[in-house]
Amino acid sequence: MMDLESKPAAALPSGIAVRGDADGPLTRRARFEPPHPYRAPFARDAARILHARAFRRLAGKTQVFARLPADSPSDHFRSRLTHTLEVTQIARTLAAALGLNTQLAEALALVHDIGHPPFGHAGEQALDHCLRGFGLAFDHNLHALRIVTWFEERYAAFRGLNLTLAVREGIVKHSRDYSASAHPELAEYFLDQFPPLEAQLIDLADEIAYLTADLDDGLDSGILTLAQVREGVPLFRGFHDAALSEYPAAAPRLTVNEAIKSALNALVTDLLQEIRARVAALGATTLAEVRHAPHRLAALSPQVEAARADAKEFLYANLYYSPGMEDAHAHATTVVQGLFAALIADPSLLPEDHQAQIPSQGLARTVADYIAGMTDSYIEQLWARCCGR
Ligand code: MG
Repeated sequence: MMDLESKPAAALPSGIAVRGDADGPLTRRARFEPPHPYRAPFARDAARILHARAFRRLAGKTQVFARLPADSPSDHFRSRLTHTLEVTQIARTLAAALGLNTQLAEALALVHDIGHPPFGHAGEQALDHCLRGFGLAFDHNLHALRIVTWFEERYAAFRGLNLTLAVREGIVKHSRDYSASAHPELAEYFLDQFPPLEAQLIDLADEIAYLTADLDDGLDSGILTLAQVREGVPLFRGFHDAALSEYPAAAPRLTVNEAIKSALNALVTDLLQEIRARVAALGATTLAEVRHAPHRLAALSPQVEAARADAKEFLYANLYYSPGMEDAHAHATTVVQGLFAALIADPSLLPEDHQAQIPSQGLARTVADYIAGMTDSYIEQLWARCCGR
């Protein structure tokens, strides 16, 4: 993609960016820590996330491909970890071009998928289904908040990572809004307001990253054919035609790559322009005005948003829920529900530190927390052991 960070671009009014200094209202931590002599608060948060165990486990979690086709063994498909790094690159580019706080955007991108259970969306649905039987639900944003405020144990003085208020708010609110009445426990996160743009743009950076990456991995794995993508994704076809005419002698793989790269660049550029246009239309010059705007200010233009939605619909029909993926989804459901039931029936199978959570969290939530933290391979092993497979 075009390196926007190296090009001068019109920044938003400076009052819109979240202040990153130690005295800023949003760099407050639940537990006071003195400022570091040379590291800014949000950079410290990004480092804490990067060094967390839950972050490393993203390497072993499915992003899209629950199972790769047996005849295309390969180790370069995206995991949640490499997806996270791609989102971080896009988010940093956007934040820099808009004059927003790049350190906050980086921290939020690094943490944005940390609450996802194994087996991608199939695993999340299965875990949610298990919890609904107990009147509870699984929400990966809220689970991410539990990870960074409680489950990560790295510091002698406190549990969790003791992240700044802006990062905790962004974890909860980057992709959706929560009602204050339904979530009194989230009261400190300004539920009646939109999050800062650094958080809002994470959701779009995520969409752009996986849309383009999944076309790439889908084609590379052979699950999608080039003809199918050209037919079903006009956004791709236009850029692919341009690449074919500019590089008529290039290998097919390279013209595909050119098209995906151009699509990514076009989506990011459109998002930048739309954010600038929405801020200008509102006349916003402060973070408070972003928070109280009539709608989120980070969005694609209507035309590009329609193209993105079409491409996503194509991926759902032909990749995520394609006939070849049904077995993988069914397997994920069997494993998650089987292990959940086994652990509910015999909580002594839980590790001691998780058993200690039962009195305060209840058994069902404790079991879900344990399962949500697992990698794909770990849950397979434990399921085989606990469920006698
Ligand atoms: Mg993501």
